Amino acid sequence: MTRCIALSGGVGGAKLALGLSKFLSPDELLIVANTGDDFEHLGLTICPDIDTLLYTLAAIANPETGWGRADESWKTMKALETIGGETWFRLGDRDLALHLTRKQQLSSGKTLSDTIANIAESIGLKHPVVPMSDQPVRTMVRTDIGELPFQEYFVKNQCVPKVTGFQFAGVNDAKPNPLLMDALRDPRLEAVIICPSNPFISIDPILAIPGLREDLRARSAPIIAVSPIIGNRALKGPAAKMLRELGFDTSAAAIADHYGDLLQGFVIDSQDKDLANKLETKSRRVHATNTVMKSLEDRVTLARETFAFASQIQTPQTV
Ligand code: GDP
Repeated sequence: MTRCIALSGGVGGAKLALGLSKFLSPDELLIVANTGDDFEHLGLTICPDIDTLLYTLAAIANPETGWGRADESWKTMKALETIGGETWFRLGDRDLALHLTRKQQLSSGKTLSDTIANIAESIGLKHPVVPMSDQPVRTMVRTDIGELPFQEYFVKNQCVPKVTGFQFAGVNDAKPNPLLMDALRDPRLEAVIICPSNPFISIDPILAIPGLREDLRARSAPIIAVSPIIGNRALKGPAAKMLRELGFDTSAAAIADHYGDLLQGFVIDSQDKDLANKLETKSRRVHATNTVMKSLEDRVTLARETFAFASQIQTPQTV
């Protein structure tokens, strides 16, 4: 019985997803990961957001880098460098073991969902983390130096090029993950939570899957987003820079505008509480609280508050 669906990117999303996993059982929570950041590299399929979620929820994430596995070594990268291999995208030795297993399973014909479920089981993760789709979707970033595959923009070019737009290659042929569709049909669903992830590159690829927005709207469970923008900045990554370059305000208000009438609830930081009245509409409630998740307690408290907020919201279907 799925009570909560969380739509998530990597680091920001994984923080809230971890909080949710501390009070919702594996049956009650479905975490849906963006795969727009995925790419093929060194013959491997790299899934940054899925892996960040897996490692974070299994408590083996690397606290120093913010990505990859804890307790990591880099011998393969060093060896790769000495033979002139590509090292701009870093993969630690332990992380590589996961990638090799994933590649082997994908090559034997398993779906991405199956390979992720197998890996999750092998690292002791009970809560389901599923890719948004088993069909490949690849985010392309339109910039002042041309269109770049996402990781070339993000890692190789360090987010320096000026962004003018996005394209999600392959999305028109993508079907939503069947477990997501089952969860959306579950009469006990109480909330769809859009985690505090980058709206353009972590959440929009999910929402771009044909028919998914309509399926989300058709549910009586409220859709609630937690703002990744606090004050006038993102806590990490290029969200604020992208907002600016695309001509929007860098504020939580721009995030509310971006999701528009998809949301029935919006959680903003207490620092932005003055925006609450402006952002509250007939069909969208606003809740202001501490949304900076430093400790595990912060993650659980925000997750609990966000989930509880859903129960106070009447959706159009239930009014
Ligand atoms: P990525 O795929 O690894 O870039 O991760 P996400 O898209 O899931 O998260 C990036 C966003 O998370 C950034 O816009 C950050 O501002 C936001 N973020 C990170 N940590 C926090 C936090 O503790 N609270 C909130 N509200 N947002 C956060």
